[in-house]
Amino acid sequence: MGAVTYPARAVVDLSAIRSNVAALDERAGNAGVLAVVKADGYGHGLVPAALAALDGGAAWLGTAQLDEALELRAAGITAPVLCWLYAPGARFADALLADVDLSVGAPWMLGEILDAVRATGRTARLHVKVDTGLGRSGVMPRDLPDVLDAVLAAEAQGLCRMVGLWSHLAWADDPGHPTVRAQTQVFADAVALAESRGARLEVRHLANSAATLTDPSMHYDLVRPGLAVYGLSPVPHLGGPADYGLRPAMRLEAELALTKRVPAGHGVSYGHAYTTPRETVLGVVPIGYADGVPRHASGTAAAWGGPVQVGDRRLGVAGRVCMDQFVLDLGPWATEAAGDTVVLFGPGEHGEPTAQDWAEVVGTISYEIVTRVGARVPRVYLEERA
Ligand SMILES: *Cc1c(COP(=O)(O)O)cnc(C)c1O
Repeated sequence: MGAVTYPARAVVDLSAIRSNVAALDERAGNAGVLAVVKADGYGHGLVPAALAALDGGAAWLGTAQLDEALELRAAGITAPVLCWLYAPGARFADALLADVDLSVGAPWMLGEILDAVRATGRTARLHVKVDTGLGRSGVMPRDLPDVLDAVLAAEAQGLCRMVGLWSHLAWADDPGHPTVRAQTQVFADAVALAESRGARLEVRHLANSAATLTDPSMHYDLVRPGLAVYGLSPVPHLGGPADYGLRPAMRLEAELALTKRVPAGHGVSYGHAYTTPRETVLGVVPIGYADGVPRHASGTAAAWGGPVQVGDRRLGVAGRVCMDQFVLDLGPWATEAAGDTVVLFGPGEHGEPTAQDWAEVVGTISYEIVTRVGARVPRVYLEERA
């Protein structure tokens, strides 16, 4: 398909995803791994990432959106799938018919899910989510007794199984932060409360990538890494991927659309935010903010190194990033020509910039760099399962 003609691509090494999950599984000890594949597998492709994660030893998969959970089922994936984010009117009946485990993160969810149980005759598998301090989804601890009683009453009627109790951390990337301990304590109390009220939990789960990598006391029965599955470090200030046995799975590259010699003083791209300081060669990279190249990377040509690899050089963006393209100042002695490949980011093993480098250039996190790669950028898979 487009992979043949589109002048840019995200090359995804599925063997990296497999080995990352195997490393996480090893680190998780007795806990299983739920590989989070939300947001199109963090931009890597939902189904290929999910299959690679399962091959690497993931026992579960997780998505935020129900549509993504259903897409996994449509692809024939039978592993347990947990889904956790919806608004009223969500397709709970479809979720039940597809054997998707559902989170109960607010009292209204239980009501709608039980309506869907009655409509389909299928028993729901539920994970009650408690807000231990993130302040996002989840039942507040003061409401937990009522929600537990309602879920367990429905279980007694055969309408559902309370499979899990779970929560999510606010500061896991700063393992010493006092909120981490506080959330862990609230979670332990919630587990004790649920069990004292008669819950027979299969899985208690709390740890995202950062907690999986840094704190075995958080592993419980299941860990829920996302970013680390794709080989990026959730704690770059503590260690890079290699320090945790991980390898970034995505390489974003593009072919130069053209190169041309221009005189000194030539304005470059919208608003002429860059002007050539001398006669030089410009190169046009045919990928822009519509493809996920951050517009905030505009004007990084003067930055040391820079986040684009051209041959063995590292360059920044000359002038503004446009919707479909940006420009490099290749220098007066450039030998590059149209068709030559430039690398925006990759594993970093061959001197190329990484998603983490881009995150630092634009003041964000590597999560955003990989997930924002646009849908029109073809994903090309290495080591695809036969
Ligand atoms: C995204 C997400 C994860 C994975 O987080 P990472 O930091 O990418 O490991 C785990 N649990 C929940 C609820 C999430 O939303």
